Amino acid sequence: MKKNIFYIGIVFFLLSNHIVFAQNSYPQNYFRSPIDLPIYLSGGFCTLRNDHFHAGIDITTYDVENMPVMAAADGWVSRIKISPFGYGKALYIDHPNGYTTVYGHLNSYTDAIGKYVKDIQYTNQNFEMDIFPKKGELIVVKGQLVALSGNTGGSSGPHIHFEIRDTKTEEIINPVLFGIDVNDTIAPEIKQVAINRIYKRDFNANKTLAVINYNDKNSDTVFIPEGSVGIDAVVNDYTTFKVNSFNPYEINLYINNEKYYTCKFEKFSFDKSKYVNAHLNFANWWNYGIKYQRLYKLSSNQLYFYQTKNDGLFDVEANKMYQVKIEAIDLAGFSKEFEFNIFGIADTVKDSIITVDAVKAKTYSELTFLENNLSIPDDIEANELGNGKVKVKYKHSDLPITFIKPCNLAINYNGNTLHSKSSLYYIDYNKNIIYAGGFLYKDGRVSASISKPGTYFIGEDLQNPIIKPLNINKKSHIKGKHLSFKIIDKLSGIDKYNLYINNQWVLAEYDAKSDMLTYFFDASTPNGIAIVILKVADKVGNESIYTKKVYIKY
Ligand SMILES: [Zn+2]
Repeated sequence: MKKNIFYIGIVFFLLSNHIVFAQNSYPQNYFRSPIDLPIYLSGGFCTLRNDHFHAGIDITTYDVENMPVMAAADGWVSRIKISPFGYGKALYIDHPNGYTTVYGHLNSYTDAIGKYVKDIQYTNQNFEMDIFPKKGELIVVKGQLVALSGNTGGSSGPHIHFEIRDTKTEEIINPVLFGIDVNDTIAPEIKQVAINRIYKRDFNANKTLAVINYNDKNSDTVFIPEGSVGIDAVVNDYTTFKVNSFNPYEINLYINNEKYYTCKFEKFSFDKSKYVNAHLNFANWWNYGIKYQRLYKLSSNQLYFYQTKNDGLFDVEANKMYQVKIEAIDLAGFSKEFEFNIFGIADTVKDSIITVDAVKAKTYSELTFLENNLSIPDDIEANELGNGKVKVKYKHSDLPITFIKPCNLAINYNGNTLHSKSSLYYIDYNKNIIYAGGFLYKDGRVSASISKPGTYFIGEDLQNPIIKPLNINKKSHIKGKHLSFKIIDKLSGIDKYNLYINNQWVLAEYDAKSDMLTYFFDASTPNGIAIVILKVADKVGNESIYTKKVYIKY
């Protein structure tokens, strides 16, 4: 038996990826890479992000846009979604073997798909769309050029967001499990471990007893008062450079050589993605910025990554030694281990269950919750602060954890005149005022479906959106082969935008992250004098109209 030995983690390399792949039942070599160059990742599957797990892999396009994107296998286009947010211009292809591939942040669609999209945009007079072509409409073959890559939607640099989903269940599956060949030369890292006293299986009722850093050579044995223990670990994986950290494929916890916890980031469904806040030790992340992954499962956690013994928790008894081993494994076959011992010491002061202040705060009478199904086993409460403000928070915590399902909040308005543009707003934990939606009902309440803790109040957006032309000069000449505007709405946000050239609707592409609206000139753009009209409306109906006589020459 190994005692009092602290292992510097060992790295070992399995000779072939297929050792790992052989364990799964996903078809191998069915899907090809969506690009023709070697795959380097800037984002990994199940990377821990704000309120969600990253659903696919982010394939770098070598810092350029407009790289050819190919269909990963034979199939048919099943969905085309264009949005100023999220995946930007996205393409979904269904394949006859029951999987769907998704390509996001594209700049444009090619050939038949491009024509199909443009026809719909002009018919609907709308840049945005979410359409589901029928099975025979847009057939593609493996390797066919289907799009050019870009940086559209919520993307912070040129790349392709690529997903493989189960078509029926819509679960997102780790694409590397299908043999998509990703460059990976670096082993995972286990940077830090925290040993926690778990009082109840509750997100805030625990206490960190000890922290061990990876290079902390003196911490081979940690002395812990007897009682129930759960372990958190900061685990990162990298592929080819140490800039972006990912999640490894698998994390294991062994106590005295017995497996207590296995987590495999194989697949998940979107409706469970918010449980990332239960997978993480959220309080630690929020308060100290450290992303500890819990190597135990909270009772409320509905993700199915885990196989556990006693939910990963174990009882430390006095005068007993426990060998702890944590193991992180990636899909290239690299792994890392972290070992230490825990020695139980008698605790004269027995663990007491933390009791939360029993004095119930006054609950706002008009507040109704439809759902109380949260990522953490706790309740929500709402308290009037005066001045028409209502603070909505978790009962035992101030953490800004997003609710798993939204609930309805209604605030009664007591004034005489209430504008039709009333809706709910909230002040978040960063003191930003954010539009929460909703509207005024006849009985005088303003109600919205809310999903974030914060201080809510009734607000009115009476400001029209701002429109700023970017490339029309003093002589009304347009510079370049496009017409660009900045469109901004500070309160409720942009809802509709329509651009007309000589009273004809034209396609203007909106990118929310840069507030940019751009019309790219094409064969139907008139040369010479033209009347430009741009109408922009916000979510409560305030509208700005910009009109200008311009000279187009391109
Ligand atoms: Zn992505």
